[in-house]
Amino acid sequence: MENGQKQKLSLTEIINSAWSTFIKMLEYKCRQYGQIFLKVDPRRSSQTCSACGFVHPENRKGKSFCCLHCGYTDDADINAAKVILQRGLAILKSSTVGLAGSDACEENKANLQKKELKSAMC
Ligand SMILES: [Zn+2]
Repeated sequence: MENGQKQKLSLTEIINSAWSTFIKMLEYKCRQYGQIFLKVDPRRSSQTCSACGFVHPENRKGKSFCCLHCGYTDDADINAAKVILQRGLAILKSSTVGLAGSDACEENKANLQKKELKSAMC
């Protein structure tokens, strides 16, 4: 900067920086405690039905979610959280990308395989 001029940050830059710091701290803590850390694409999660997967902007009306395809109803935020969970579980099942630490990765992969084996036996 010239002659001591301070750089002005926009509110968006400040928020993004704070969010980025939070994500880094969360990832660090997950590694520290051997927990799974995954980044999941949240796009259109509030418009996606957690029961049938149908996506439409009119599925969500304010705080309520009602699927135009199957009629599933729920709180909009709860439904979106279920969609995010489903997406995360799909990532875990398809690969080990995003697991925190190699030891945790192998341990979590083994635990996931045990759970799948148990559910397949029931
Ligand atoms: Zn549905």
